[in-house]
Amino acid sequence: MLAFLVLLSVALASAHLHDEHFEGDKVFRVDVEDESHINLLKELVNTMQIDFWKPDSVTQVKPQSTVDFRVKAEDVSIVEDFLEQNELPSEILINNLKSLLEDQFDSRVRATGHSYVKYNKWETIEAWTQQVANENPDLISRSIIGTTFEGRNMYLLKVGKAGSNKPAIFMDCGFHAREWISPAFCQWFVREAIRTYGHEIHMTELLEQLDFYILPVVNIDGYVHTWTKNRMWRKTRSTHPGSSCIGTDPNRNFDAGWCQIGASHQPCDDTYCGPSAESEKETKALADFIRNNLSSIKAYLTIHSYSQMMLYPYSYDYKLTKDNVELNTLAKATVKELATLHGTKYTYGPGATTIYPAAGGSDDWAYDQGIKYSFTFELRDKGRYGFILPESQIQPTCEETMLAIKHVAAYVLDHLY
Ligand SMILES: [Zn+2]
Repeated sequence: MLAFLVLLSVALASAHLHDEHFEGDKVFRVDVEDESHINLLKELVNTMQIDFWKPDSVTQVKPQSTVDFRVKAEDVSIVEDFLEQNELPSEILINNLKSLLEDQFDSRVRATGHSYVKYNKWETIEAWTQQVANENPDLISRSIIGTTFEGRNMYLLKVGKAGSNKPAIFMDCGFHAREWISPAFCQWFVREAIRTYGHEIHMTELLEQLDFYILPVVNIDGYVHTWTKNRMWRKTRSTHPGSSCIGTDPNRNFDAGWCQIGASHQPCDDTYCGPSAESEKETKALADFIRNNLSSIKAYLTIHSYSQMMLYPYSYDYKLTKDNVELNTLAKATVKELATLHGTKYTYGPGATTIYPAAGGSDDWAYDQGIKYSFTFELRDKGRYGFILPESQIQPTCEETMLAIKHVAAYVLDHLY
């Protein structure tokens, strides 16, 4: 009995250690003007653990930019003093992360099962992939392209009417675990395909002429972790020999200038590139699928959040692609279309200059495989809620993003290569 109680208390203590509660955590926004500001931020990072929201790490901070980061409650006063003493212009974006986390589930839909206007946990999404495929056999088929580090099936939905030699568009969601609006969009896209096929002329044509490969969640293990242990988790959940730190940044793990810039070799960092390119089972499965279907895939779309941007290659280098003019023109027209619904403004451009240089990203890799139309979307918002976008924004966000994706798809159909 005593042994049982000791074991129980050890289990409870460790559960407490690993569960993050975020009470009193704040998110700061600093206006970085010059190199001296960047050096001050680096100084701060060396003295305590700081969770970078935008950009992804301190090494990616550029002059004349804004930087968003989360500070744990116990460090808040030190950070506030530091910012004040060094006259770093800053504001508090989120005053208490805990209360914002409670507000994210603000949908008025009471459904306990799957809902397109709520955030769904993985088990619910998994069951949903089966259900949509079963209910729409002439439009959707489901396959498994691999398993995750923790052994979960990676489901891929093929959406489109049957036909031979159809060109395809590949779209994935949920690279970074905490970007919950991303998987919500992939689910929304499938719903719109089902709902409007045969009723709306543009979607009908798209599904008759094209196949969409939809990977609803890439980093399933990480996503599960954000629901069960740590809402702010970003990476995969793989372990690495020689380190007690867990996870690799899947969007630094592709073989595109791998780990040369804007990525870290340190397993404890949030932008850890992994021990080698495609070291993660999840990125390997995705890359293998695309390699095996290169002859049909004409566009690669990857959905992230936040900051309202539409990016195209390159991110691993400042060089421009040979298709730069065309990609720029398409991005410009796409964000204009997106804004028509709710006025949401997106910026666009090559990744390295528009957001920051970062090697090992899937969009650069896909482009270098020969997929000309390769885009990363950073969905809402611009930092008011950041990763904690309330459920009440799922519908407007997905509606406007649908306009963008349909615009790109129609363009691709008109410009097959
Ligand atoms: Zn992301």
